[in-house]
Amino acid sequence: MIKKRLAILGSTGSIGTQALEVVVEQKELFDVEVLTAFRNADLLIKQALVHQPNVVVIGEESLYDKVSNALSSQPIKVYAGAEALSQVVQMESIDLVLTALVGYAGLLPTLAAIDAGKNIALANKETLVVAGELVTKLAKEKGVNIYPVDSEHSAIFQCLAGEFDNPIEKIILTASGGPFRGMDRDALLQVTKKQALKHPNWDMGAKITIDSASMMNKGLEVIEAKWLFGLQSNQIEIIVHPQSVVHSLVQFRDGSMKAQLGLPDMKLPIQYALAYPDRLANKFPRFNFLDYPNLTFEQPDPKTFKNLQLAFEALKRGGNTPCIINAANEVVVDAFLQDKVGFVEMSDLIAETLQKCTFVKTPTLEDYISSDAQARRLTLDNIKK
Ligand code: NAD
Ligand code: MG
Repeated sequence: MIKKRLAILGSTGSIGTQALEVVVEQKELFDVEVLTAFRNADLLIKQALVHQPNVVVIGEESLYDKVSNALSSQPIKVYAGAEALSQVVQMESIDLVLTALVGYAGLLPTLAAIDAGKNIALANKETLVVAGELVTKLAKEKGVNIYPVDSEHSAIFQCLAGEFDNPIEKIILTASGGPFRGMDRDALLQVTKKQALKHPNWDMGAKITIDSASMMNKGLEVIEAKWLFGLQSNQIEIIVHPQSVVHSLVQFRDGSMKAQLGLPDMKLPIQYALAYPDRLANKFPRFNFLDYPNLTFEQPDPKTFKNLQLAFEALKRGGNTPCIINAANEVVVDAFLQDKVGFVEMSDLIAETLQKCTFVKTPTLEDYISSDAQARRLTLDNIKK
């Protein structure tokens, strides 16, 4: 493998820090060109001193001086603000952009990177949820590959290796079920933020952890899968698998199914996306069937976890519907984390926003930007009431 030069957007987060661990283990194969963070200036500075990127970007502009002063003796350029992200991803020296930032903020830098012909290792699922059609169309035009980092999508991508001419009958996304698996709506009314932030199998950023507890994460992943693999909504199923060992499955038209298995550890899908098509030797812990004598599977419960219904509705309606749901979800998750709304209220608020927002059947980028803004405004107004 020729050495790849990486831009890691969101390097201080859960995926970003694990990606840097992969880079350290495989230092003869990867160079870090760009690191970016939103507010965690201290960690960004530390990472810059260790990995010596060409450029760092701090999202929060008021932290520019802090980062710039700390790195003043280093040959590292420092920029600040959201626009800088879209500029640095286009740098000549970058081969691959890992989008490990969270939320809608990933959309514009991802589009900018694709526009400049950069391949993408995509962790930021919200980008494909918001504007999957636009993003995949541009990638096709520019000859850019999008390698999934999300463990379920990486599993499907791995199952599809060597199968590119064989039509998919359906895919089955596995879901851990999160901390509230098996609960009914009454029980959900009692759950706390602390419980919601404690995922049984994965240690992740706060937003995706809440999304996992509310099953919105699986809803977003259904939409992500549609765009990554070119599927219809009736080709995507969800099965709850509490052990998170079978990471997802593909069924081909002869009925044969392929699955990818492993311990729940994001470093493997991160490494696969960074090194594709190579599989790199590593020292990650290995899976042992005898440690997991029972791998179990259950139906999801969309009556209790209404976000699943909302996501499938978004998929069927198309247009800007997924963008609206994503924006409303980002607002309610933020409000939940600030103790402003309850757990069950989140999906009710998203459904209300969806009813009120203007539907656009074939949105342009400008439509997505205004739909996102409208959905955020309506959701916030509703929370304040
Ligand atoms: P995180 O909250 O731990 O980290 C987010 C990173 O993005 C941080 O570096 C932060 O500084 C940066 N960031 C946050 N807001 C930003 C903004 N407005 N502008 C620029 N940068 C911003 O999140 P995470 O858990 O690492 O998740 C990152 C993405 O990967 C999400 O889209 C998530 O859905 C996806 N993902 C995460 C995991 C996981 O195991 N953590 C698994 C699958 C997919
Ligand atoms: Mg996932």
